[in-house]
Amino acid sequence: MKKTIRTVTAVLLAVCLIAGSGAAASAAGFEGYEPLEHRPLTESDLQYKGWDDDKFDALLERLEAMGADTPDSEFLDVYQQILDEYDELYNQYVLADAAYYADVNDSMAAEASDEMFDKRTDAEDDFFLAMQRILHGPKGKLLQSQLDPLWIDWIETYVEESEELEELYKEENRLVQEYYSAIAEAEENASDDEEYYEMANELCGPIFVDLVQVRDQIAEWNGYDNYYEYAFDSYGRDYDPEDIEILSEIAKDQIVPLFNEIYDTWWNLPYPEHAEDAFYDEEEILALIYPYIVDIHPDLGEAFDYLLENKTYDIEYSTDKASTGYTDNLPAFHSAFIFNSPYDSYQDYSDLVHEFGHYNAAYHDPMPAIYMTAVLDVAEIHSQALELLITKYADQLYGEDAPFMTIDVVFRMLNSVLSGCMYDEFQKTVYENPDMTLEEINDLAEELSYAYGMDGSGSEAYDWVDVSHNFDMPCYYVSYATSAISALDIWRTSLEDWDGAVDRYMQVTALPSDAGYLEAVKTCGLMKFTDKKAVERLINEIWYYYDVNYRDFFDTKEKHEPKLPFPDLSGKVDKAKDVAQSVLKALLIVAAVVTVLVVAVIAILWKRHKGEEISNQTPPNPGYTEDPSGISSFYQELRGNTQSVTPEEEAAAGPAEDDFVSE
Ligand SMILES: [Zn+2]
Repeated sequence: MKKTIRTVTAVLLAVCLIAGSGAAASAAGFEGYEPLEHRPLTESDLQYKGWDDDKFDALLERLEAMGADTPDSEFLDVYQQILDEYDELYNQYVLADAAYYADVNDSMAAEASDEMFDKRTDAEDDFFLAMQRILHGPKGKLLQSQLDPLWIDWIETYVEESEELEELYKEENRLVQEYYSAIAEAEENASDDEEYYEMANELCGPIFVDLVQVRDQIAEWNGYDNYYEYAFDSYGRDYDPEDIEILSEIAKDQIVPLFNEIYDTWWNLPYPEHAEDAFYDEEEILALIYPYIVDIHPDLGEAFDYLLENKTYDIEYSTDKASTGYTDNLPAFHSAFIFNSPYDSYQDYSDLVHEFGHYNAAYHDPMPAIYMTAVLDVAEIHSQALELLITKYADQLYGEDAPFMTIDVVFRMLNSVLSGCMYDEFQKTVYENPDMTLEEINDLAEELSYAYGMDGSGSEAYDWVDVSHNFDMPCYYVSYATSAISALDIWRTSLEDWDGAVDRYMQVTALPSDAGYLEAVKTCGLMKFTDKKAVERLINEIWYYYDVNYRDFFDTKEKHEPKLPFPDLSGKVDKAKDVAQSVLKALLIVAAVVTVLVVAVIAILWKRHKGEEISNQTPPNPGYTEDPSGISSFYQELRGNTQSVTPEEEAAAGPAEDDFVSE
């Protein structure tokens, strides 16, 4: 954790500065990806083998020893070998992680994962300190020619951590581990949801209070007024905290009513059993989504083919797996590894589309791992926008469940915006007031849950401890909100101008991985979430979409007159209506005598029947998000809080368990 934050800080401080340097995308639109070599992989390539620092250290030493008389070509050759060797280290780091998450009870795998984390940290330290010395040596000018000026600045000012700071990071890491143990303890001992939340809060709350103190000191050591400001910079955000405040106000005032309306419809739509019945294993989902991904843009097919051929994933169901999903780069292969612990539920479709969005971006990313970074606000556009775009094919993919599967994605994006803003305000308040008591923190959580429409768990004051990001990835959550706004922006455009929207999406995926959020949206012609009017227009257009396509599912209120030529999705609506109408017709035939009264009675009965059906579904908690893994992966996923298990699964899962679900 410590090193992750530090490394990210280092790299991302550079990000804002690098902005504008050589984006592959341009105003001209998507012009194809830069070609990169991708060799075929064997099974053994994907097995963790460990990594020895001997070669890396020797190469660094050799580079540093080069004098003015060493040919430039020799210097550059060794420099490239060092970058390649670090890529290999990163590959092994990712494979070790994947092995551990595949079986969280495997202590050898856990050890290997820790070891690779330390090796990576040490190698980074060695690398940057060596580069700093070389910059001041006879080959300084040559090295400079290989680096962006902002990286040069950063390397120049690179300092090894003081022992005191090192101790604080260790303490932080220890508290985070303590948090995971405490959560596991609550899971094991609580007999129902209410008891679980109370117990988890009682166990984890004091840990959080301690973490806030430790982080306050870390911020001070790093020259910041408070930890929120420190963390904000560490994620390479090229916008200001004030911009988030504006978005948060819009979220509370304007997105909450929309979210609630969509939530009601989402909740009342039939559970998508057809979508679940259609597959038995996760690879089948990959095969099912493949043609539609390629139809979105043929260039997405190259990465997908490579993924299928080389199987750089672990997506099968297993009870040994960590309950999470993520994608992390395999830079030595110019590829990535997808890890997902599936639910065997309808959510697996969206999860795999989401992860493929990350995979595709990684596949085309030429950045050496040592200079690699992930600006979450942009990386999550790669995944979230693809989830929305593929809803164009909902009829083909999901059949009669298309209306549910489509609104489900929109619903989750709005949830991301609301929960992202909520947890940001929550953490900002706490880190700015590091002496808050647990009681005050709980009160704050409760107040914000209602303000952001994220209430519903019944334990609003306590359930924030269930969101591991609050402990493990401080101040990270809001990036899901900013990216979801952009994803919705692309999707909204796609309803009117499919090709234009896809082009913008492809441009975002072709940006260098260190492009900042504002740079990305500007380059790709997307709206800025910092533009209040633009966000309000987006909200209105989602209202409009909802009104046109969903309002009359369960609502007889007068439909808004269409103002814009949105595509007509009424076919989907009609399918559901047909079902309802056929039930009514059948009843009417049996009744023989058709009177207005009878129709009314039947309608009421039918509605009641429907109500019973619905009440068997898992109650969703709009405010509930969860990620029990604590992975420090690049694309740590927001674990969803939406309807996720079938009634049978819910019954089988027992108390508390049913909440441990992810998107
Ligand atoms: Zn993601």
